[in-house]
Amino acid sequence: MSRGQGGGGGLDLARVLAVKGFLSAAEALHLHRVGREAARRGPCLEVGSYCGRSAVCLGAACAELGQVLFSIDHHRGSEEQQPGEEYFDPALYDPRRGGIDTLPWFRDTLRAAGLEETVVPIVCDSRLAARAWRTPLALVFIDGGHARESVLADYESWSPHLVPGGLLLFHDVFEDPARGGQAPYEVVRLALASGRFREHSRVESLAVLAHTGASAAAGEALRK
Ligand code: MG
Repeated sequence: MSRGQGGGGGLDLARVLAVKGFLSAAEALHLHRVGREAARRGPCLEVGSYCGRSAVCLGAACAELGQVLFSIDHHRGSEEQQPGEEYFDPALYDPRRGGIDTLPWFRDTLRAAGLEETVVPIVCDSRLAARAWRTPLALVFIDGGHARESVLADYESWSPHLVPGGLLLFHDVFEDPARGGQAPYEVVRLALASGRFREHSRVESLAVLAHTGASAAAGEALRK
């Protein structure tokens, strides 16, 4: 990927925004910035690849530091992206399969951005991948299914793998219910209340928390 364009250091912002997705320009730049901060310390992981807009931001950061990004998605679209729903995109509908398939788009994005040697696509439900996960992570970005059950499962599955000081990110965090669903905001509040995370930074609906180093067991004790 070319460097020095769009004011994002190693991020080509025009290329990022040409990829289908829901991350704003300011959020994309911040994702790249915190990705660089985290990738000095270890591999990064995102839940919710979609067509690869965020993978280009985090992937560019990982590539700059010789690190790896794992990107998990079943690529069948989340609840609100199905036919008839608010975020349905007919271009992503595969008539042969009779459903959404974002994997070919994601692969095209990685190839065009020169990130095939940096990003590891994992094609399954995130909970399945978590069942056998053992690798400590420096950053976890949760932007998969936005139902409360999905956001909570992703938080519970992946946040225990963060190294102390590691970064936990959520997209689509809205304090005001009129602006969007409340599940990511509720889980952010849960994470902060656990004592395991503190606020790190915030750009629009992208919330970044930092692991305090407290264990999950200590977090449970604090909640009592
Ligand atoms: Mg999102």
